[in-house]
Amino acid sequence: MSYLVLARKYRPQRFSEVVGQSAVVKTVVNALRRNKLSHALLFAGIKGTGKTTLARIVAKALNCQNINPEEYEPCNQCQSCVEIMKGIHVDVLEIDAASNRGIDQIREIIDALKYAPAKGKAKVYIIDEAHMLTKEASNALLKSLEEPPSHVYFILATTEPNRLPPTILSRCQRYEFRRLDFKLIFNHLQRICELENYQIDQPALELIAREAQGSLRDALSLLDQAMAYGVRTKEDLLYSFGWHEEMIFEDLAKALIERDLKKAMELVQNLYEKGVDIISFTERLTHLFRELFLAKIFSQEVLADKGIDFRLLKDLLFLGNKEDFLLIYQALYKGLEAIRRSTYPQFQFELMIAKICEYEKFISIDALLEKLPTEALVASELEEERKVEPKLETKAETKVETKVETKVELKAEPKEEAKEEKRKRPLADVWDDNLTPKKEAKEEKKGEKWEEFLDIAGKEGATFRALLESVPKPEERDNKMVFLLEEDYPLLTSAYRDKLKDLVLKFFGKEVEFEVKKKRRDPEEVKNRPEVQAIMNIFSAKIAYIQPAKGE
Ligand SMILES: [Zn+2]
Repeated sequence: MSYLVLARKYRPQRFSEVVGQSAVVKTVVNALRRNKLSHALLFAGIKGTGKTTLARIVAKALNCQNINPEEYEPCNQCQSCVEIMKGIHVDVLEIDAASNRGIDQIREIIDALKYAPAKGKAKVYIIDEAHMLTKEASNALLKSLEEPPSHVYFILATTEPNRLPPTILSRCQRYEFRRLDFKLIFNHLQRICELENYQIDQPALELIAREAQGSLRDALSLLDQAMAYGVRTKEDLLYSFGWHEEMIFEDLAKALIERDLKKAMELVQNLYEKGVDIISFTERLTHLFRELFLAKIFSQEVLADKGIDFRLLKDLLFLGNKEDFLLIYQALYKGLEAIRRSTYPQFQFELMIAKICEYEKFISIDALLEKLPTEALVASELEEERKVEPKLETKAETKVETKVETKVELKAEPKEEAKEEKRKRPLADVWDDNLTPKKEAKEEKKGEKWEEFLDIAGKEGATFRALLESVPKPEERDNKMVFLLEEDYPLLTSAYRDKLKDLVLKFFGKEVEFEVKKKRRDPEEVKNRPEVQAIMNIFSAKIAYIQPAKGE
């Protein structure tokens, strides 16, 4: 008995059996039912998603002698149906556009178009790999597509619709075949194994479903091979298919998340020995961590829409947090670029992996801020003018590894963090902190007036107003309005400056004075800032060196 491959044995023969293309199937059946099916159809989608399968079912439905006008399912019993299934029906022709015979066949078709179907009700031409049609063949076809006789249907199937000439595309009704999602493929495989009475464990089937990357045909042919090898477990599968790479891939991803340097380096050696292509391997890793990062942000439904399979990630997802995945994704992405350029990609790869494992030495800003006493953050802003006696300079030499990265980031964005904290407190901003209770009533009035002024300033443009809103309210001093600004603040450019002076004079009847805060700080001063001291306390750290934040 000859062995029938699974893809053929279980090829769907009815619309209801088609896997994973419900939208397309529904539209096609509706059109058939209403006798409104276009005479030129384009089925587009990756390989093995059911394009030719559906085309054949359509051909049967158009020719079936026992068609039920409600469901429009072919009977699969009548002579038409049987012949179409066997591929011997005279009116249903399948053409492989990739073959050399393509152009001759197209000519033959066109010559025969004028004749009524020999047997059935409709002539159906299924053109597979339609993007491979030669220019001549496309031109010949074009005319027929323009005005096909009422008994003629063309179904063009293609994996690359963009390669079809626009003239052809515009004449076809287009149906998009979706890449099948992992779960659908997995369930289908499971069902087939049951029907075949073949025992195989779930991780092995999952791996096959994953490897198929959305193509049901690929999944089935992998299962065919697995059955031929007698594969029962994932280990069998990896061994029989030479998929060690797959195993290394998963283990390395895990080692990276867990920052297990030793394990990671062992796996790297393993990769070299197996002669794995480093670049494509790194590309896959980068994709994986991008998806892990996205999976921490979006819901499963959103991920599915993005073509990301949540189940694939689930084992790794809970090993790390968003920051971990982002860091690794970023490092892999940078590393990938470097590996591509490098004369010694292996070294570059190894360095990248080692660096990622050493990221453990850094800590996420969020985690750090959580550990910081709130007071330290709030106080930091006010601390700028005040001096604290330097006391921590030589403290705690216990741990040598200072979190340099963390330190720099904190320095670069201290204001944002501090502001965030302050927003949670009843008094809204620094300005208010400096007031004595006595002044409050008066200041309130001034506040209202300031609001009024902002409205007037707003008429000069939204940016101008936004700039004013983001600075402390001006102080009245010696009959002047004193604005406290950071150097480089856009309000200091002459255009805004003049406008502001003008408006303030009109509104408050006062001159404007700017007090410019220098951004640049004495590096030594940084050490005395309360948030830095708090970090040093919490981690028993010492300062290795001070790097100026960007722009300083
Ligand atoms: Zn039939």
